[in-house]
Amino acid sequence: MPTPYRVPPPIEPDPYAEAWKTVRRSRRVTWFTFLGWVPVGGLIMATVTRLFGDGAAPFVAMLMGAWLLFTVLSLMKAQCPRCAKPLLRTRTYGNPLSRKCLHCGLAIGTAKADA
Ligand SMILES: [Zn+2]
Repeated sequence: MPTPYRVPPPIEPDPYAEAWKTVRRSRRVTWFTFLGWVPVGGLIMATVTRLFGDGAAPFVAMLMGAWLLFTVLSLMKAQCPRCAKPLLRTRTYGNPLSRKCLHCGLAIGTAKADA
């Protein structure tokens, strides 16, 4: 049985790496939703229209719009690991395409050692 002092302490995840991972995942989902709007949405609309008639198409369009809005709002909620403020928006301005924090200027993906 190993003695306690030989057990390595658990390595805590780097908060910067975790924050950037969350931002990248959220940004990827938003882009796939946005770019998939026409091909995937068209396929879904055609299928739903064929199955349920023309009355179901606006409902599906609203659901797809709500999903896109949800993904963009999730991306805009991301926080900067350095200043802990919203990464991609200020009180009066928001830019989901920004590559740096709109408050402190920290570039997305910067390692903790370089920040
Ligand atoms: Zn910041």
